[in-house]
Amino acid sequence: MPVSPVNPLFPDMPDWQRKATDNLWPPYTQMRTTPIGLPVSEAEGVRIKLADGRTLIDGVSSWWSVCHGYRHPHIEQAVVNQLQKLPHIMLGGYQHEPAALLARRLADICPGELNHVFFTDSGSVAIEVAMKMAIQFWLNNGIKGRHKFMHFRGGYHGDTFATMAVCDPEEGMHSHFSGVLTPQILAELPINDELYERLDNQMATHADALAGLLIEPLVQGAGGMIFHSEDVLKKVADLCQKHDILLIADEIMTGLGRLGEMVACQRADVTPDIITFSKTLTGGTVPLAATIASRRIFEAFLDDDPAKALMHGPTFMGNPIGCAAALASLDLFEQEPRLDQVKAIETQLIKELESARELPAVKDVRVCGSIGVIETTGLGDVNLLKKRFVEEGVWIRPFGNIIYTIPPYIIGQKDLTQITSAMVKLSKEL
Ligand SMILES: *Cc1c(COP(=O)(O)O)cnc(C)c1O
Repeated sequence: MPVSPVNPLFPDMPDWQRKATDNLWPPYTQMRTTPIGLPVSEAEGVRIKLADGRTLIDGVSSWWSVCHGYRHPHIEQAVVNQLQKLPHIMLGGYQHEPAALLARRLADICPGELNHVFFTDSGSVAIEVAMKMAIQFWLNNGIKGRHKFMHFRGGYHGDTFATMAVCDPEEGMHSHFSGVLTPQILAELPINDELYERLDNQMATHADALAGLLIEPLVQGAGGMIFHSEDVLKKVADLCQKHDILLIADEIMTGLGRLGEMVACQRADVTPDIITFSKTLTGGTVPLAATIASRRIFEAFLDDDPAKALMHGPTFMGNPIGCAAALASLDLFEQEPRLDQVKAIETQLIKELESARELPAVKDVRVCGSIGVIETTGLGDVNLLKKRFVEEGVWIRPFGNIIYTIPPYIIGQKDLTQITSAMVKLSKEL
């Protein structure tokens, strides 16, 4: 018997799955009570194909990454070409065209003097690098004691040890480790005058200890798809400037078109000191992340003293296949009307989710760019709800008390309607 319950949606497991039921450790899962994952064989466009040939419309873009749909031919070709030429080379002592051109292009996309790109393999590590840069920025400038980070309730910045410490402490995901983590400084988003004043005071109190402040601009994702206005983001940025605290914009979720712009901060006319991208960076094909620093940060590391160098270098840093995929993904924002598609998704989501607002179990309906959220009073049996979505032909992963969709930007109108109809229908069943 497998450790996990047989998935009622797929009782007849394929051989490969039966063979390895307790070898493969799933993410964020109580294995005893959650059915084993559905076996997938392939995916194309917005459709995920299960091992028995059934297809599901992808409503979450594989954790918000597959923005151009699966197997976009332009990215696929770029990956194959790179694989056959130079699949990998260490970035220590070498440079290669895809990494250099991608760094240049990311610098062009980012506002201000965010020109200096450090590549890693995952979002969490990109944030860790941003935190290391921020701490060392002060040290390299001869200022001691600034090694803390301010972060916001509802925030999420990753699952590694440094990043767990800057996630919402009550959200539950990392509560076991609270005694082990470096205490950081939790703040509330300044959504009203009172909280604005409080944040101003909190920054004044801690400025001498703070290296930087971390924020997910405009949308806090994994913490519950919580939105704040451009004005709030602008106020946070202005306060960082006032107290000389480095502003780190975590755009791993919000960047690269998600909200309708390549850089979400631009909506509030905010230029952070450091910005991070990952998830959609390669169009969701291979892992890659980038931490991009301003000239001011970068220059603090330029010195004759080797101790002032940034001592970080993941083995697969700037992997050529990843960089080639990311370049191809960025091409698609220019060659295809991607940002217009996000606008169209936004308009359709606003229209089609609205009817859920009146339902007894619904607290709020909100849309920002390609993110559509139905906030409920409670999801009940979440495994049952996930099963119901599959029965409706769509892949939706409710969590906390929200049902949300973040479809690939290329989704067609009819497919999106199938997603929104299922979201509204199942909200009725709550
Ligand atoms: C997903 C996410 C991360 C972590 O990225 P991983 O690649 O999963 O490590 C960090 N910050 C935000 C805002 C994210 O959405």
